[in-house]
Amino acid sequence: MDPRPWLPDLTGPPRRLVEALRLGGPATRAQLVEQTGLSRATVSGYVSDLVGRGLVSPADAADAQPTGGRPAGLVRLTRRAGVVVGVDIGRTHVRVAVADLSHEVVGEQVVSLAVADLAADAVLDAVAARVCAELESVGASTADVAGMVVGLPTPLVSGAATAEATVAQSNILPTWSGSAPALELRRRLAVPVIADNDANLGALAEVRWGAGRGSRFTVYLKMATGVGGALVLDGGLLRGVGGTAGEVGHVSLDPAGALCRCGNRGCLELTAGGSALLEAIRAAAPQYGDLRALVAGAVDGDQACRRLVADAGTSVGLVLGGLVNTLNPDRVVVGGELGAAGDLLIEPLRRALVQSAIPAAAERLAVVPGSLGGRAEVLGALAVALREADRLR
Ligand SMILES: [Zn+2]
Repeated sequence: MDPRPWLPDLTGPPRRLVEALRLGGPATRAQLVEQTGLSRATVSGYVSDLVGRGLVSPADAADAQPTGGRPAGLVRLTRRAGVVVGVDIGRTHVRVAVADLSHEVVGEQVVSLAVADLAADAVLDAVAARVCAELESVGASTADVAGMVVGLPTPLVSGAATAEATVAQSNILPTWSGSAPALELRRRLAVPVIADNDANLGALAEVRWGAGRGSRFTVYLKMATGVGGALVLDGGLLRGVGGTAGEVGHVSLDPAGALCRCGNRGCLELTAGGSALLEAIRAAAPQYGDLRALVAGAVDGDQACRRLVADAGTSVGLVLGGLVNTLNPDRVVVGGELGAAGDLLIEPLRRALVQSAIPAAAERLAVVPGSLGGRAEVLGALAVALREADRLR
């Protein structure tokens, strides 16, 4: 792929400065000295040079010190230095976000799309069109894209988190089996793309910016239409040898239970997944047509909604108890649309977890709802794009 205009012939110290700003966000010159190991004079000289080239700008006047000599002098990468794109493909929606290299989200939109019912090609065409529209709306084009990361609600194998990542052969997203979505999007948009599992991206975002901050070992659960999961140890994902680690939604609770789309029987997802909850509420209270409404119903005190949310929490807690015994994490973060039910979900989940885990394993464990809501996955995609932009080119 051709070099992007956002890094015009940068080598040596200027390149290291731009990398430090891209990875860490806005920084003072003193912080840049620390991060790059360059001397103060070198940093000052090259920052001025980068400002002259329009790639770096001093941050807002509000960041300056009110009195005395030079301002605190936060500097940041400008829009001209490039943008990154994050895409979260859910089973029923697509969310696209654009951030500049100073870590600011400059554009974001979410649209309903029946992803699970459409052919992969049709979804990827729609995603490509959305990405172009969102770039245009922020005054950018594909030529400005330093990197793009796309999350999918299915396990990815043979090179998860790479351009070659391939969707696992399964019925979880049947029309996508064996496809390489990152390569397909790169072909459509001519930008560097990598693909990863959506829960992996959500987990990274919660650990970096959300409810997982400060944790050493987080188990992240995405409770949405389905139930996905991911494990983050010391800031990095534990993927397992095939890239499927954390798929707790397909732990079987009942070997004689109903048949799941994955081919097993009695999977957790069949009792605690959003689709199952909506199917259950349909008979009792048909006015709750989607998950958001069901969660709102629970929060407003509807007993049927509350019961469903609580029972989902109990099922998930049972499975997590086994996981906590095995892995001994210090935090469980429950994200996805159902995570928005807060304590109505978390309390029964915690009770079931404590009952099924040995006390020593659960002793230093905190179970908390995600704090990034439906944006966790797309923010994780942006975080990975910012981190990996250089490797992607
Ligand atoms: Zn299953």
